Amino acid sequence: MIDSPPSRRQILAGLATAPLLPTVVSSQTSNPDVIVIGAGASGIAAARRLIASGKTVQVIEAADRIGGRAYTETDTFGVPYDQGCAWLQGPDDLPHLQAAKDLGFHLHDHDTAHDALFVEGRRASHKEQRQYDRAYARLYQALTTDADVAGASLASLDQPMDAVAQTWTGPLDFGVDLTDLSTADWNVYPDYDVNYLVREGLGSLVAHLGRALPVSLNTRATAVDWSGQGVRVETTQGMLEAKAVIVTVSTGVLASGAIRFAPELPADKQQAIADVPMGLLTKIALQFDGERFDLQENNFLTYAIPNELPAEACYFLTFPTGHDIAVGFVGGQFGWAMADAGPDAAVDFALNEFSKAVGSNAQRHFIKGHMSGWAKDRLTLGAYSAAQPGKAASRTVLAEPLGDRVFFAGEAVAGPYIALLSGAHMSGDSVARDVAAQLGGAEGCGACDARHHNLQKEKP
Ligand SMILES: Cc1cc2nc3c(=O)[nH]c(=O)nc-3n(C[C@H](O)[C@H](O)[C@H](O)COP(=O)(O)OP(=O)(O)OC[C@H]3O[C@@H](n4cnc5c(N)ncnc54)[C@H](O)[C@@H]3O)c2cc1C
Repeated sequence: MIDSPPSRRQILAGLATAPLLPTVVSSQTSNPDVIVIGAGASGIAAARRLIASGKTVQVIEAADRIGGRAYTETDTFGVPYDQGCAWLQGPDDLPHLQAAKDLGFHLHDHDTAHDALFVEGRRASHKEQRQYDRAYARLYQALTTDADVAGASLASLDQPMDAVAQTWTGPLDFGVDLTDLSTADWNVYPDYDVNYLVREGLGSLVAHLGRALPVSLNTRATAVDWSGQGVRVETTQGMLEAKAVIVTVSTGVLASGAIRFAPELPADKQQAIADVPMGLLTKIALQFDGERFDLQENNFLTYAIPNELPAEACYFLTFPTGHDIAVGFVGGQFGWAMADAGPDAAVDFALNEFSKAVGSNAQRHFIKGHMSGWAKDRLTLGAYSAAQPGKAASRTVLAEPLGDRVFFAGEAVAGPYIALLSGAHMSGDSVARDVAAQLGGAEGCGACDARHHNLQKEKP
């Protein structure tokens, strides 16, 4: 076995009650020091840091809730279900850990997760399991490089289980097929100290960190005018003025032009946005009646597929933290195709794939299914950022502020924690520190949480 970095899946890798919903103070601060666009993990962290530094802040959020891509809901299955991020991963001083403890959330250490590997409807033999392990090892060895090229240009697809390892690693870990995977993105991940599933939902935890912040919900930013000394942000609820703005929306939203900039974004910034588009991971969750099909809770269900990519496959996290749900994942090109096909077709597909592995009695125990909608959601337009091969360095340009008043934060500019919730949080926190320092005054970190990770220096 080579000494390989953990996959995003490994990394990515009670209370059955409603998540503890926070109170959001939906308010409007007139003439704040700083406007934060977006109340996802990054915007929440930025606002907390700025307030702790003695700055006045107005967060504007287009949706009717905070959290962005961290979203736990209980309506679909009657138990906490994370439509977005589910694995809490990052350094061990992540503020979410302390928050989880304080709130009595239940964390499940997920470093010990195993794969239940199936071949043609039966459990894989030891030989097949070894083939799978070797396929992973081969792939990781191939992808470990200083170059920034397409993963597919380094990976071979001629040994047993190659397509299985490549499907987990590309579409399901990074939201793109290996043809679109930047090896620099793949190689940037450090070892993580923390890898937990959260029984009450990771989105619930993030929402708690955002409680009591000055957030104006249902307020969409439509334009940022940075032609003057400060900034003027046009929103669907009126105009706001401030000394600076922190933009935390996804690169999908930036690329869509939903927020106009005046003056226009510089050409290199526009190019950087185009270089770091959104990948897609779509969850197709299946609820069963309590039957476990001889599968363990908190494990992965994987099955052999032909060595042809992109694969039309759906792999699962089985019954996370004891809930009666198998969470299926499709991503990359096939994920976009499933999003086009719609939720009914996606659930049918996922249930069929699940049944092929564990047996047709899965249909009898099935209650209902759900597909997450990040592909079409105009407030995200994808799951998380994935630099095009050869373009990972554009993330640095993406992170650069405009003048001394327009700042960019979020998972796409999160240094070694790109695409992760923890990265989004640390990016927001780090950028807010810079903004607070620039605006002057005490930094007052008493109520703050994360150490300064200095993401700029750590960028790929
Ligand atoms: C399916 C899925 C699974 C994932 N799994 C994991 C995981 O297991 N672990 C992990 O660490 N990460 C995971 N992630 C990634 C993680 O969720 C994100 O990296 C993180 O939540 C991004 O936070 P952010 O603040 O950068 O962006 P966002 O959460 O997107 O926040 C931006 C906010 O801006 C708002 N907005 C957009 N446009 C406007 C506008 N014009 N005006 C005002 N507001 C606007 C949006 O509504 C949103 O609330 C997953 C993501 C998805 C989608």
